[in-house]
Amino acid sequence: MVEVLKNNLLGMDRAGLEAYFQRIGEKPFRARQIMKWVYQQGETDFSRMTDLSVKLREHLMETAEVRAPEVVSDHLSQDGTRKWLMRVDSGNAVETVFIPEEGRGTLCISSQVGCALDCQFCATAEQGFNRNLTTAEILGQVWHVNRLLGRDEHNAKRLTNVVLMGMGEPLANFRNVMPAINVMLDDLALGLSKRRVTLSTSGVVSNLYRFAEQSEAALAVSLHAPFDELRNEIVPINQKWPLKDLMAACRYYIEQHPGRHITWEYVMLDGVNDGEEHARGVAKLLAGIPSKINLIPFNPYPGARYSRSSDARIQRFRKILLDKGFNVITRKTRGDDIDAACGQLAGEVKDRSRRQERRAAASEGVAS
Ligand code: SAH
Repeated sequence: MVEVLKNNLLGMDRAGLEAYFQRIGEKPFRARQIMKWVYQQGETDFSRMTDLSVKLREHLMETAEVRAPEVVSDHLSQDGTRKWLMRVDSGNAVETVFIPEEGRGTLCISSQVGCALDCQFCATAEQGFNRNLTTAEILGQVWHVNRLLGRDEHNAKRLTNVVLMGMGEPLANFRNVMPAINVMLDDLALGLSKRRVTLSTSGVVSNLYRFAEQSEAALAVSLHAPFDELRNEIVPINQKWPLKDLMAACRYYIEQHPGRHITWEYVMLDGVNDGEEHARGVAKLLAGIPSKINLIPFNPYPGARYSRSSDARIQRFRKILLDKGFNVITRKTRGDDIDAACGQLAGEVKDRSRRQERRAAASEGVAS
């Protein structure tokens, strides 16, 4: 028997669901009903959605589904950070991390299986790239964890923030990421505050303009170096879109979102990008842009070629920026005992970019 592919309703935002219901001869308001069931009740069984007509329930049971990735493992760190491995297909799985803090709970989600961008200090890059996640796979991570932790307002451990800072480059998967963000912000669905959903990019400038125009979500930019020469090396997408282009797009985001700020991520690599000249360079680059700077102590992984800057170097870097009037925090390393810290996410990636092979060939070339 040929298995019929069902429409996964988890992959549709409100506009998508309205169009879907219209196509099957239903009123668009069905979208609202479904969204409440799926996101607010965590319900996946259409037969229990009692405010839908029996006929519609039966139709949905035959032709549609609400399907999130399957959780294959669940690790809890000593500091309360929790990491799940979620299977998205037979060869691939992505990681999702929950970070509970005083008064908030942040979920860090993945947007791609692996990553194609090759940032030199990132474990995900080492894995190579397989494919973009679908909207349902992106949203499914949030849906799962939200359902698991509960929506009780008084539950200090509930999910309040989402950051697209897991595996992958979200702006390289714009088409699938945008509806997922829409659902996170939609009051009928997850209803998260627009200041509490943050997309992080290494600088896919073309889509940064589209994001600025089309989304209310917050923006984080992985800066890591204030000079093109160094950034070309450690964040290679800079060769395509240098700092001048990146900064122009960032200014455009601020113009489109008056009163908001940009979070700048800066990984502290010992002796590479953590000198006084780099701190002064950052201050010059960001002058006039409403900014919060997050210094991220480098998190090591097997085979990494960098080491973490000392606390003293991080403090000195921070002080230079503080003295120039910037808001600067040093991000606390969380969940490193379960490899859940920034840049340590690896999941299971069937590398179709053949990165490992190319690397091996390149290093043989150097050796000979
Ligand atoms: N591709 C997106 C989102 C994923 S990375 C981006 O680049 O922004 C999320 C953050 O973790 C980025 O700022 C990234 O540079 C940082 N990061 C990557 N590897 C790291 C490591 N080993 N230690 C600390 N931070 C790292």
